[in-house]
Amino acid sequence: MPDLFSWPDEAFRSFFYHTLLDWSAQNPRPMPWKGEKDPYKIWLSEIILQQTRVEQGLPYYQKFIRHYPTVLHLANAPEDQLLKDWEGLGYYSRARNLHAAARYIAHHLDGGFPQTYEAIRQLKGVGPYTAAAIASFGYGLPHAVLDGNVYRVLSRIFGIDTPINTPQAQRQFTELAQYLLHPDKPAAHNQALMDFGAIYCTPAQPQCHTCPFQDHCQARLQNKVLLLPVKQKAPERKKRTFHYLVVHHGGQVYVRKRTGKDIWKGLWEFPCTENPISEVLLSDTKAKLSGPFRQLLTHQEITAYFYEMEFQEALPATLTACGLLNDCRAMPFEALKKNIAFPKVIDCFFQSKALTLN
Ligand code: SF4
Repeated sequence: MPDLFSWPDEAFRSFFYHTLLDWSAQNPRPMPWKGEKDPYKIWLSEIILQQTRVEQGLPYYQKFIRHYPTVLHLANAPEDQLLKDWEGLGYYSRARNLHAAARYIAHHLDGGFPQTYEAIRQLKGVGPYTAAAIASFGYGLPHAVLDGNVYRVLSRIFGIDTPINTPQAQRQFTELAQYLLHPDKPAAHNQALMDFGAIYCTPAQPQCHTCPFQDHCQARLQNKVLLLPVKQKAPERKKRTFHYLVVHHGGQVYVRKRTGKDIWKGLWEFPCTENPISEVLLSDTKAKLSGPFRQLLTHQEITAYFYEMEFQEALPATLTACGLLNDCRAMPFEALKKNIAFPKVIDCFFQSKALTLN
């Protein structure tokens, strides 16, 4: 590592964390979970805030604390209820992992939250960042957090141009962040560093002219502030097209639960195919088309079309023969939005029809 940038000496390390804590004292950033010591609540807030803006995540955090005040409440909740409460946040694997980890704690740890970094890291869905956050904020253990803000601040101050979405950068920045960590105040240090990146050393408008690190910041000294951190280009998103049949039948609608191992596992949907719907079926069912609706996921771009049809008597033979209703069940339309969670792209369809079923 020293060949890539100038490794800070002990004096700079001390300057770094004292400066950071001074800055934090002068720039408080209140958050509902700040100062929280309950590892369960810290865990919830950290998982909710992954890939989610604070303003969007806050109401969900408050709802989860209300509905599931302890890890045992979370462990005992039915999955459908949990996914319903998560609806709108996206990345549903986070909710499923929370549930699995809560059950693990309830059944294997007697309901006690794990108390070491290594044990916390064993929980499903908990990566190095979340484990360090829980360990430092909940138990005052000396583990440095590394999130997007920390990567940005460190890459700029130390002039590191290793692409931050590579394993090499993860090792490099972990070692550096851990070295810089205040030995006695890991929680305050971690919080201050993330806050500094979030509100001061921001991606597009860092406040370099008043920054307490300005005389030492390599990015500023080399005029590379907006070039750091470096990120490797992500591969193109896979494009997928979903054709949903919205079959109303005698006041009920056909839906099914996704059971396959994918990002929407446990969510509900209308019968769906990725093949175009045949002209014969469209004509037999007099389907009305809505769409396209789009949803961007990390690795996929989803385009969805909805074919709505209504029947009072028996379903047309072409519809039953197409097989799309095979693993579906009929539910009263009013119950759909109240009790079960749908992917965002289906919510967009509901909203386009101004369905206020909640
Ligand atoms: S001088 Fe600018 S780029 Fe460097 S740490 Fe301060 S705000 Fe960030």
